[in-house]
Amino acid sequence: MTAQETPTTLEEPPGTKPPRPWEDVPLSQWQDWRWQLAHRLNTVADFAQVIRLTDDEIAGLSAPGLFRVDVTPYWASLMDADDPNCPIRRQIMPTAAELRPFDAEMVDSLGEDAHSPVPGLVHRYPDRVLMLVTTQCASYCRFCTRSRIVGNPEAQFSRADYDRQIDYLAHTPQVRDVLLSGGDALMIPPKILDDLLGRLRALPHIEIIRIGTRVPNFLPQRITDDLIAVLRKYHPLWMNIHFNHPKEITPEVSVALAKLADAGIPLGAQTVLMAGINDCPTILTELMHKLVRHRVRPYYLYQCDMVHGAGHFRTSVATGIALMEALRGHTSGYAIPIYVIDAPQGGGKVPILPNYLISQAHDRVVVRNFEGFISTYVQPSDYKPHDPAACPACRARLYDGQEGVAGLLAGPQLTIEPEHWRISHQRSTAPLVFPPGALPDGWPAAAEARIPAEVTG
Ligand code: SF4
Repeated sequence: MTAQETPTTLEEPPGTKPPRPWEDVPLSQWQDWRWQLAHRLNTVADFAQVIRLTDDEIAGLSAPGLFRVDVTPYWASLMDADDPNCPIRRQIMPTAAELRPFDAEMVDSLGEDAHSPVPGLVHRYPDRVLMLVTTQCASYCRFCTRSRIVGNPEAQFSRADYDRQIDYLAHTPQVRDVLLSGGDALMIPPKILDDLLGRLRALPHIEIIRIGTRVPNFLPQRITDDLIAVLRKYHPLWMNIHFNHPKEITPEVSVALAKLADAGIPLGAQTVLMAGINDCPTILTELMHKLVRHRVRPYYLYQCDMVHGAGHFRTSVATGIALMEALRGHTSGYAIPIYVIDAPQGGGKVPILPNYLISQAHDRVVVRNFEGFISTYVQPSDYKPHDPAACPACRARLYDGQEGVAGLLAGPQLTIEPEHWRISHQRSTAPLVFPPGALPDGWPAAAEARIPAEVTG
């Protein structure tokens, strides 16, 4: 980036010397991402130099076998030394609450392992994949959904793993969108990142590459001109950055975001809804406004997953709906994320909305707006619905077997049945025939159940 291209940032410029207690560190080192990674805080003694630790935090830091603790000095410098409820501090400081199990908690709450054709690749949706390229992050969030695989320095993906991932993609032409994540995709060494992006871009059916990251936030120093030069080679490349609180958008982050946006990378944000951190309409709105001002489009607001260790961060779903009610109509649509529950066991992202559709008849629908104003939309009487059978584009489309509810609206299929639904509803007294494997585990002996041969084929 030349001097003329220096990004225009919206925050005050970063300080000219490192904050306490790093004031004696040369600024050039403080601004070096490698120095930041090499000096991460992870022990009671480290943190005691920066904040007044509570007994709860000391218990968390001292507990054996806890999810990894590692915090960049930069992020640690944002913590309120005297307030254990500081939203920056709570996201990365372990406490005793993490040790308490809660009802319904899971290890792999999204069922990702079951959707992995090769290690590190999650192929859950028809046309896109999640490619886990590292287990490392710049700092570690206490509510991490992937805490089962993230943070172990010995469990890294190898060149052979990358080869298998790329090979699977080369042989899976329906995939048009690859999301690089981890861990944090921007934590892999620059040369390997360059190589991986180049290999993905060489696959003609991969239309877009996305990077999921919290590096611009935990470690904004990593967004160097060299990294930007690598990323801009592989357009269309999108980036989704994890932000949970407006305090995270500092002068340093502002510079990093401006560099990424100026490189033509469309930026999105994902936010995890968390008790005591951002479950407040004023704070959430401030975060969304700050993101948009920095050319970051709020994308998802996630209901906190049912993952082990994150129980104390969870809110009710009603809280999320009330927050969406506080956003929609009250601010610009660009500043409103989609609130989703990432459904357990691989159910995928399910959008959750306040109910705006009040009622409907064949020719009209009754809706309400954010103010409670109720009105009627009269539907056209002469509209001719789209006919997929007469549409060349629809006829040419490859169906992937995952049409779901859209398939019920448009195709020959009339039902979607839970597994074994027909068996459980079979009331016939006809003679019983059980093909091998027809009955679920634990069902009564074949002679007691009822199932006609045509049901199971
Ligand atoms: S940055 Fe993402 S992957 Fe890493 S610990 Fe945080 S939530 Fe988990």
